[in-house]
Amino acid sequence: MKRIAVEEHFATREYIDALVALLESGKDAEAKQMLERDAPFMRRDGREKRVGALMDLGENRLQELDARGIDMQVLSLISPGVQVFDAVTATALAKKINNELAENVRKHPRRYAGLACIAPQDPQGAAKELERAVKELGMKGASINSHTNGEYLDNKKYAVIFEKLQQLDVPLYIHPRLPSPQMMQPYIEYQGLDSAMLGFSHEVSLHSLRLVASGVFDAFPRLKIMIGHMGEAFPYWLWRIDNKAPASMTSRLKKKPSQYIKDNFYATTSGMFWLPPLICAHMTLGAERILFAVDYPLEENAPAVEMMNNAPISDLDKEKICHLNSEELLRL
Ligand code: MN
Repeated sequence: MKRIAVEEHFATREYIDALVALLESGKDAEAKQMLERDAPFMRRDGREKRVGALMDLGENRLQELDARGIDMQVLSLISPGVQVFDAVTATALAKKINNELAENVRKHPRRYAGLACIAPQDPQGAAKELERAVKELGMKGASINSHTNGEYLDNKKYAVIFEKLQQLDVPLYIHPRLPSPQMMQPYIEYQGLDSAMLGFSHEVSLHSLRLVASGVFDAFPRLKIMIGHMGEAFPYWLWRIDNKAPASMTSRLKKKPSQYIKDNFYATTSGMFWLPPLICAHMTLGAERILFAVDYPLEENAPAVEMMNNAPISDLDKEKICHLNSEELLRL
């Protein structure tokens, strides 16, 4: 079976150097510590190995994909992306990163596709770069690592990004990062709670539900959002979301809150290689709304492939999840 993995990561030397410079700049100790938590691959112990795996888009990665039976990776810049820099630096860096990604995709067009990196700090610039990346570089959509300086995309100033996404008919991947600074306090005491163990999912599901509650999908009904980790718990929550939505919200929206999740969102299997949530997503969103993903190199390819092989669903639904849906959504 053909397999396309859609939340796979890379980094460029320039991006890593910019992060090192930011970490070593005059930031106060607390800000520096938060940046280290937000970019855990930059931890000093083992940094070289992790960064090496992220920067490798050559034979080593391709051999790994061959060995695991993965035909194609849809690549996005590792979180927290350019959102940790000032607007001018981030906008310039995003351009260079997209150019380098496009170069790698051109070298291996059947193995790699790309999601553009954009800098929401400059919403107009982000929309412009999105258009360039899609039209000139062949990118298949964009990736944003959730909040930017504690702000979410339902803020009206970001509408220009949604407008461009809808106009170009390409999806946005809302990828996790640490919860916003306003939310961080209760996660800090116990190491791990703020990230993949819990905080990432809280951050992206909150972000997604803010978009629903704000009416973004009534304003941009053809907008498509991809979220990872089997839908960041939404498949489990959908009924309660409708059941408890207050009239102040439902009276403003054209559809039930869950309907936007079903109509405008795609859930990927990244970093969630467990059958019960896959079955839940299959029951609630349907096979058409699930996309295969690994989260390489932060996760291993083998267990992701194994879960899909073992899934108690039809071969046709497996084909949809493993490649047909992503081929259609991303025009691969
Ligand atoms: Mn990821």
